[in-house]
Amino acid sequence: MSKMPNHYDPVEGRAVELDDLPWVPFPEAFSDGGIRWKLLNVAPELGSWAAIFDCPAGSSFASHHHIGPGEYFLTKGRMEVRGGENDGGETVTAPAYGYEPCQAYHGRTFFPVASEFYMTFLGPLNMVDGENGQTLALVTWQAAQAVWEASLEQASTNA
Ligand code: ZN
Repeated sequence: MSKMPNHYDPVEGRAVELDDLPWVPFPEAFSDGGIRWKLLNVAPELGSWAAIFDCPAGSSFASHHHIGPGEYFLTKGRMEVRGGENDGGETVTAPAYGYEPCQAYHGRTFFPVASEFYMTFLGPLNMVDGENGQTLALVTWQAAQAVWEASLEQASTNA
């Protein structure tokens, strides 16, 4: 007899050794200053994705809303979140953990010194043209994966 229509098997565990993945440029449409990243996992069953970012001094991410919550671990450097502490937000120095709630607005996430952080995104990032501005792109787990895979192909073509 076949399985019940709504039967699901547990998903498999996954593990990634970071040195097995190359750093590739994060799209310049969403960042400035040479940020690179490694996509570590996508979990379609949660709508989540996890990545590590390498952020040179002076780099930044473009304005976005976190549609779902996210947790980060800043492993190196310093990160100005939600404008940084001089503009109503927070500035964290590594090692630092942070939780960003559903709908958190990040106008400009800035790295004054060379930094690195890991983040799990539960749900998409809505890249916007200002806090109440238009959506420029919706970065779902699927979009993140497509961008990552295209970057890997480009990296192997250039190698
Ligand atoms: Zn953010």
